[in-house]
Amino acid sequence: MPRVYIKTFGCQMNEYDSGKMRAQLAPAGFVPTDDVDDADLVIVNTCSIRDKPEQKLHSFLGRILPQKKVRPLTVAVAGCVAQMDGGKIFKKYPTLDLVFGPDAVGRVREMVETARTRRVLDTEFFGTDGYPFSSDLDPDATGKVGSFVTIAKGCDNRCTFCIVPTTRGDEASRPADQILAEVEGLVGQGVREITLIGQNVNSYGLKVPGMPTFAQLLREVHAIAGVEVIRYTTSHPRDMGDDVVACYADLPKLASHLHLPVQSGSDRVLRRMKRFYTRARYLEVIEKLRAARPEMNFTTDFIIGFPGEQDVDFEDTMTLMDAVRFEGSFSFKFSPRPGTPALRLMDEAVPDGVAQARLQRLQDRQRDLQIEAHAALVDQTLRVLVEGPSAHDEGVVCGRTSTFKMVNFPGDPALSGQWVDVKVTRAFANTLRGEVVGGELVAP
Ligand code: SF4
Repeated sequence: MPRVYIKTFGCQMNEYDSGKMRAQLAPAGFVPTDDVDDADLVIVNTCSIRDKPEQKLHSFLGRILPQKKVRPLTVAVAGCVAQMDGGKIFKKYPTLDLVFGPDAVGRVREMVETARTRRVLDTEFFGTDGYPFSSDLDPDATGKVGSFVTIAKGCDNRCTFCIVPTTRGDEASRPADQILAEVEGLVGQGVREITLIGQNVNSYGLKVPGMPTFAQLLREVHAIAGVEVIRYTTSHPRDMGDDVVACYADLPKLASHLHLPVQSGSDRVLRRMKRFYTRARYLEVIEKLRAARPEMNFTTDFIIGFPGEQDVDFEDTMTLMDAVRFEGSFSFKFSPRPGTPALRLMDEAVPDGVAQARLQRLQDRQRDLQIEAHAALVDQTLRVLVEGPSAHDEGVVCGRTSTFKMVNFPGDPALSGQWVDVKVTRAFANTLRGEVVGGELVAP
């Protein structure tokens, strides 16, 4: 049986696309492998959101392509870097067999077949009307507790720092019947937790008259028997409507955690980023969600050192952090991406040392907030959906609460997919440690 190794960089959309590639390749006999040296086909699914993942692609290719001299091997580059720089990559690496963008994922099997006889470059965009979302189920989802389901692709926003509209094109919403059928299929494979994904899930369906809204879609997914937890990502604060907030009051399976990227706490910087919300609007959304679901846990993204960010802007970000008390965040120094409008602001670039010092301060405060929030959970009993064995500790399993807290505790891997009550015994910055209370399983 031929083996396929897929290296995935970047976001959940890329992970999901990798799953679709595995599904596409399965009928051609390809079996997934975790060992790159054992693979007949290697696909690197790339990310262009920052500079670093791009550099990782080049170092990965530098290691893998020489293997083609000593064994039969097909090597492909997929994803956002392929979409953006496909032609250049194709030229730079003459032994590369295949380069294709996110819109070509559904054709991977044919392209791999063609690559036996000639090199293939496919970075065409589909239009958004009738966009061909793939309905194949990732064979790797079998036996897993959670799975992603894409509900939309691309983005119609034009945040000035972001390259996604260039690499993934305009937004297209997937028909609801396809989404619901995929959720049902995954539940049939044993999946209990569904994460709906898209670049901006909140604007789902708004472009096409008659399509359900995101809030209506949440309600339909909630009605599917066997779904235990519903998460979604990514949300744009501007599009977080009251109808979605109401779901938190009405839908118990909707997780008590929301990743809501704020990027900055300064109105001036938010304007320059073209985010189309203010700090006050962001805080209002948080307040409404907490009113609907008091136990909500919020995480976010920050870009530090956006061109023109001054000390006073950064202080606004720090005070917003404390106002919300985020319990996790992804934070990065601004990294200029080719072709984005923010490049025009580079004459106001923040010196690297200043940006680095601000980032460090923010990350230190973030860590303190997490430690404080987790310390408050010690001695509390939390309901945890078990995901499987811990990657680090033998005899230990891990799972997540509805609030997205990772809890490790001694237990049998056979508990995977079950809810257990776990008493928290120790708190760390990123995880909790606990023990099953009385060894009793809890009905979902
Ligand atoms: S909403 Fe903004 S940051 Fe998010 S994908 Fe669209 S353009 Fe990029």
